[in-house]
Amino acid sequence: MRLILLGPPGAGKGTQAKLITERYDIPQLSTGDMLRGAVAAKTPIGLKAKAVMEAGELVSDDIVNAIVAERIDQPDCAKGFILDGYPRTLMQADAVEEMLAARGLKLDAVVELVVDDRALVGRIVNRAEEAKAAGLPVRKDDTPEVFEERLREYYKKTAPLTGYYFAKRRLKTVDGMGSIDEVSAGIATLLG
Ligand code: AMP
Repeated sequence: MRLILLGPPGAGKGTQAKLITERYDIPQLSTGDMLRGAVAAKTPIGLKAKAVMEAGELVSDDIVNAIVAERIDQPDCAKGFILDGYPRTLMQADAVEEMLAARGLKLDAVVELVVDDRALVGRIVNRAEEAKAAGLPVRKDDTPEVFEERLREYYKKTAPLTGYYFAKRRLKTVDGMGSIDEVSAGIATLLG
């Protein structure tokens, strides 16, 4: 099963990707997590990405495409994977097509979590508060100010992907406004 999860920041992609991981026993490939790892490890990519991420902007397509291309060749991706937070631009979407075609692989579905924008800032603030309460590191980009920029980037660069996949008849939409279990059940129904 090879899946793409689409939706604005705060839509619940990460949470749902984790649940899908358990259900299908395939890894979650979160470019955000990989980039945060690179920033923490101060790798050359991390050093380049840090300021861009903290500003809520998108890291360059070349960097992200290279990270994903390398990751999907790892043995744990042999049975499939969930792309969470990638692709985020039309260039990245084209790169996915090329990456898969070059390996003789196909995408099974693109699932879009449809949410009400007005609820998103609240979710992000909650995520930051929950992380803090649990003694976990709080993401530097989980502030209302940076979140606004992330949402702007989403509408400018990522939202067009829904049309891209709709035209390819791959897009499946799920109401992302329910509880975690409800959304998860909605995704399970779609994926069969
Ligand atoms: P996320 O954890 O998916 O919300 O991503 C956090 C940040 O990492 C984003 O705001 C971007 O700066 C960067 N990022 C993650 N995935 C991508 C991507 N596919 N393309 C460009 N930048 C990305």
